[in-house]
Amino acid sequence: MKGMMIIRPYGFAIWENIQRLLDDRIKETGHVNAYFPMFIPETFLQKEIDHLEGFSPEVAWVTKGGAEELEERLAVRPTSEAIIGHMYAKWIKSWRDLPVLINQWANIVRWEKVTRLFLRTTEFLWQEGHTAHETFEEAEHETLMILDLYKEFVESELAIPVVPGKKTERERFAGAHETYAIEALMSDGKALQMGTTHNLGQHFSKVFNIRFEDRDQKLQYVWQTSWGVSTRLVGSVIMAHGDDSGLKFPPRIAPLQIVIIPISLGNWKQEVLPIAQKLERDMKQLGWRAKLDAREEFTPGWKFSEYEMRGVPIRIEIGPRDIRQNQAIVVRRDTMAKEAVTLDSLQEKVAQLLSDIQDSMLENARKFLSENTHEVDNYQDFKSVLESKRGFIKAFWCGAQDCEDKIKEETMATIRVVPLEQKGKGKCVLCQADAGQKVYFARAY
Ligand SMILES: [Zn+2]
Repeated sequence: MKGMMIIRPYGFAIWENIQRLLDDRIKETGHVNAYFPMFIPETFLQKEIDHLEGFSPEVAWVTKGGAEELEERLAVRPTSEAIIGHMYAKWIKSWRDLPVLINQWANIVRWEKVTRLFLRTTEFLWQEGHTAHETFEEAEHETLMILDLYKEFVESELAIPVVPGKKTERERFAGAHETYAIEALMSDGKALQMGTTHNLGQHFSKVFNIRFEDRDQKLQYVWQTSWGVSTRLVGSVIMAHGDDSGLKFPPRIAPLQIVIIPISLGNWKQEVLPIAQKLERDMKQLGWRAKLDAREEFTPGWKFSEYEMRGVPIRIEIGPRDIRQNQAIVVRRDTMAKEAVTLDSLQEKVAQLLSDIQDSMLENARKFLSENTHEVDNYQDFKSVLESKRGFIKAFWCGAQDCEDKIKEETMATIRVVPLEQKGKGKCVLCQADAGQKVYFARAY
């Protein structure tokens, strides 16, 4: 089926690592996981008209159960605000029930016309946080706290620097009061939205009637947020870090961090293999994802390029001659630098490399981001930068949707984010009217 992913074990391990590392952070900040149904009755979606209109072109509907026509169509969840809102109305009665801080790991279906593996798929996996609060300020605080959490997570685990900010009205989530996002630049110069957080205000609580008795015994509608990242992040790692030799994974999320390849020469099975096996055992015991590849049907050279292509951060080569010199050859995937290391200091060296590679991949990506962010102050330069260099364009924007639409129509560039901190004033890059905000434009996936 078009737009459906089959994620084989090596790829799924990346998602599992992302899940584990992000889930820890979600829980550390007080959230708990739960699960809600994947079918949503049509009447639930109809309650919030903006929400329904925003999603209806992408909804897959279940109309039959077995041979029987259903009385009411069921949507395969395109997102879960409606069904979770329905339940929150039953669960939340008093200010003592707040805040509700729930996250769900689930699959989502959106019937996309144009699909692209990992980035825009008909079915994808994600986490969606849904919270309810006593005040607008608390909901806003939650929305920005998660935005920060996503930024820190993506930068320190995926080694991809991001630009955080607010979405414009046209890019806002259907039914949200405000949408925030983190955006990254892929190696081809196109932007990718990496995650979003929404301050939903009281839109959903009013239509789903989620009310609580406040501290003065008055009935109030709750203030809500929702936020998510998806398997798109796996695609971002591939596109932001990969090079001509293949994948390149940051150690923190690499399915396999270290591969040990014995050099099959001479008496290697007696001399080399037991030592290589011990290396693998010791490294696994340290909690590293290490593997010995002693298969005889492939040459060491074939294995070198295979694991380069698979993006394994560290390769250890060890042959009879290395054993005699009490050493191994260590190769790092990010720079391809090779080094002989004594067997006694090998673990220490690998520990240091795992952290060095992680840091230097982020450092390189930061350099790429800054080299590919261009500031312009007129439309001529805007168009020529977009054609010749791509990347992010930082420019003043007057705030009018007309300008935003016209730029999109003529250049295919959209406003990715409006940074939260603004200083200075200028002229709109298109209409030259006074503008108080500098925004990030780019062509995006
Ligand atoms: Zn303008």
